[in-house]
Amino acid sequence: MGDLNILQWATHSSIEDDATGLVIWTADELESQMSDSIATGKALVSNGHLGVDLIRTPAGQGFLPHTHPGDHLLIVVGGFSTITFDGVIYGAPAGTLYAIDGSIPHAVGGVTDVEILAVGSPHHPVDSPDRMSLVEYKAVLSPTSATMTCEICDETATLPAMLHDRGCPHCPCPYDLSTGNEELDLKLRQELDWLIMDSRGW
Ligand SMILES: [Zn+2]
Ligand SMILES: [Zn+2]
Repeated sequence: MGDLNILQWATHSSIEDDATGLVIWTADELESQMSDSIATGKALVSNGHLGVDLIRTPAGQGFLPHTHPGDHLLIVVGGFSTITFDGVIYGAPAGTLYAIDGSIPHAVGGVTDVEILAVGSPHHPVDSPDRMSLVEYKAVLSPTSATMTCEICDETATLPAMLHDRGCPHCPCPYDLSTGNEELDLKLRQELDWLIMDSRGW
């Protein structure tokens, strides 16, 4: 038989009959550096197949468009985050939960400092390079129109225009989000420049 794996991932400020107050600290970096992102994480529980980690991204940063080897269930527990999928940037404040198939390209950002509980199956360690694979920016655009819409700013841009040209700070492109690796950032920006140049002829 397996073991019971029990731990505290947050502290509470109050437990009343009708409400519980949780305290989520979003200001401090967590202990593990995540791969291909400046986000940090903390391993919580894993049995090798199913696992959950706490992940934190600072305001204005996050995860560039990517896929996963497994499926993820993300529970935003602190701050205000974004999830980008199929040409739309959705606002996801604390209290939001979303599930997305690992094979579907998506990006995750922080409007403020954000903490997210990430449940994954199959589970890869929070600092594992196998946890996600970056994909081209193109993969999160609307499949029909090379368009990106920000639901928070109520703004739309169609290539060659980008949302960051319109003053939207939630654009999940390599000019806005860093992998933490300067060389890789440059390469991804170059790929995006080619995509923008290509789109001028559409
Ligand atoms: Zn925006
Ligand atoms: Zn951008």
